[in-house]
Amino acid sequence: MSRIIVFEQERCTFCHLCTLYCSLTFSKGGVVEARPSIARIRVAQNEDDTLYAAHVCFQCPVQEPGLPRDAAACITACPVEGCITRNPQTNIVEINEETCTGCGKCVRACEYQAVFLTDGKAVKCEVCEDPLCVKACAPQALTLAEADEEYLEKIAQLYKEVRL
Ligand code: SF4
Ligand code: SF4
Repeated sequence: MSRIIVFEQERCTFCHLCTLYCSLTFSKGGVVEARPSIARIRVAQNEDDTLYAAHVCFQCPVQEPGLPRDAAACITACPVEGCITRNPQTNIVEINEETCTGCGKCVRACEYQAVFLTDGKAVKCEVCEDPLCVKACAPQALTLAEADEEYLEKIAQLYKEVRL
């Protein structure tokens, strides 16, 4: 199992600060920008406004039958060899920005809505050393923790239910 950003929907207040702070981490060109469209975490609500979900990649240990152990839908969908890989040390699924063509196949393949296209490149949470999303979340709906099976099943279901 890998360290992932764990989301507890019961604690989330839908404030969007995680998205804003994440975007600070990924600002480019020497300018720090609060720009949600470049964030690796995105917050959604259901139609009744009764459920919130911060969509953030959980590194897909949820396996499809018949796929190799390190497979994830985004890895399988990417037509550029070696562009999306799983780091064997950390288990984190990583995208090579240099070789990404921005075709969006990985985005469409992820049924959990955890891969995003931004500025012509695919991006996803690759679990920062000291994530700003976690620091920004006052009600502690986000934590950096080991994934466990029970959590993964629950979050996979939530992401299918609360769409962006
Ligand atoms: S910062 Fe925390 S409470 Fe606010 S939207 Fe993100 S997960 Fe929810
Ligand atoms: S957008 Fe980039 S990472 Fe995603 S499938 Fe296309 S080339 Fe691969």
